[in-house]
Amino acid sequence: MSVMHNEFGPIREWDGDNVLHPWENTAYIRDQSRTFIERAEGIYIYSESGQRYLDGPGGMWCSQIGYGRKDMAQAIAEQVCNLGYYSPFNNSNSVTAKLAHEIADRTPGDLNSVFFTTGGSTAVDSAIRFVQFRNNVLGKPKKKKIISRQKAYHGSTYLAATMSGKERDKGWMDVADELVHFLPDVNPYLRPEGMSVADFLDEKISDLEQAILDLGSDHVAAFIAEPILSSGGVIVPPEGYHKRCLEMCRKHDVLYISDEVVTGFGRLGHWFASEDVFGIVPDIITCAKGMTSGYAPMGACIISDRLIDGLTSDGHDATFSNGFTYSGHPVCAAAALKNIEIFEDEGLLEHVREVSPHFQNRLTALRTLPIVGDTRGMGLVGCVECVADKASLEPLELDKVVGARIDARCQELGLLVRPLVNMCVFSPPLIITCDQIDEMFDILEKGIRLATDDLAREGLWAGE
Ligand code: PLP
Repeated sequence: MSVMHNEFGPIREWDGDNVLHPWENTAYIRDQSRTFIERAEGIYIYSESGQRYLDGPGGMWCSQIGYGRKDMAQAIAEQVCNLGYYSPFNNSNSVTAKLAHEIADRTPGDLNSVFFTTGGSTAVDSAIRFVQFRNNVLGKPKKKKIISRQKAYHGSTYLAATMSGKERDKGWMDVADELVHFLPDVNPYLRPEGMSVADFLDEKISDLEQAILDLGSDHVAAFIAEPILSSGGVIVPPEGYHKRCLEMCRKHDVLYISDEVVTGFGRLGHWFASEDVFGIVPDIITCAKGMTSGYAPMGACIISDRLIDGLTSDGHDATFSNGFTYSGHPVCAAAALKNIEIFEDEGLLEHVREVSPHFQNRLTALRTLPIVGDTRGMGLVGCVECVADKASLEPLELDKVVGARIDARCQELGLLVRPLVNMCVFSPPLIITCDQIDEMFDILEKGIRLATDDLAREGLWAGE
């Protein structure tokens, strides 16, 4: 049935009745109060009623080049007309091969083998399945455990969800617990009172070594880490953390998977953050999101030549039975190639490096607000963490609602926030200008003040 533009009513009903949304809570199934985003341009998105919002989360950390790009539309349309799809299993196509080459050109070290996936979860899944496969082929079938970290998020397929350390997401879901070991939180903000950041870092490194020793290095296949623990609350580990983790992994024959689903493609001002920001060349990088700036679903798991060569040199005859109908989809690949071209033509990486200090300064300035316990970030990603009491940092009852309250107030003022319990997370489109950064933080500051007043009025906030 076709729907006229002025008949929005039934659409809201259909959404409630027929769409089961991601991360749906049973209390909200059939809910009809969602904001519909119907149009977008640049860094702004527009609701069904025409209300304009600055897109604070950049879609889902992915809208790097901004919305409504005609050049991207043209590239996608041309690819659809030329080759809309063909099976990647026994054939190839030039657009996918070209994209793999362009990506390999931008990865650190010898990470040159690109395995295309449909998004970030399938990239992480594929990375872990590859590690398992390789150890089976090399006669190490017991070397299967993955070391991950509390608060990490690696995706929503069974294996990627298994590697994710956000307890809140696991309450009602099954995972393969036997495959994973979690290290404690790496957030220096939550270190014990009186402990220096340097001592905290030493402790985190010895957590990793101890875990490898306890599990036995012949049982540990890989360590997986996001350069910045993104949806876990933008946790930036202490300087030198990733380098020392990599050294520890090398010492104990454990592979290092760097999950760059958020940090890849410009979020920190570089194609990939592993080497350029954190000084490491991991064994595998996973990426997605910014790879197509959200214009098409695509991810990749990029594997070091060293790992691949070990499989081809000894005459093994083993099939890596992992892949998707849409691995390396030519239309998504064309979008990814256009995305790279736009990044280069418009100097987007340089732009991010230029405007990031202003973004981070404005973020840090929010610490003066009485309800803000911490702010943290890097590049064009940031987080505001609210606390009921700055001194104790203990999560009190108010913490569970404050992110959503700030989001509601900011929406009234024209900014979309990504609320995460007591936090608000920002990763705007990378094309954002300094004036637009000011617009975003001006609204955010106002929104936080209004939400704080609301809480005080309701007796949920006692003030400083
Ligand atoms: N890895 C990280 C670090 C992520 O932040 C995400 C998604 O937010 C994923 C993996 C999963 O990606 P996707 O939602 O594309 O499956």
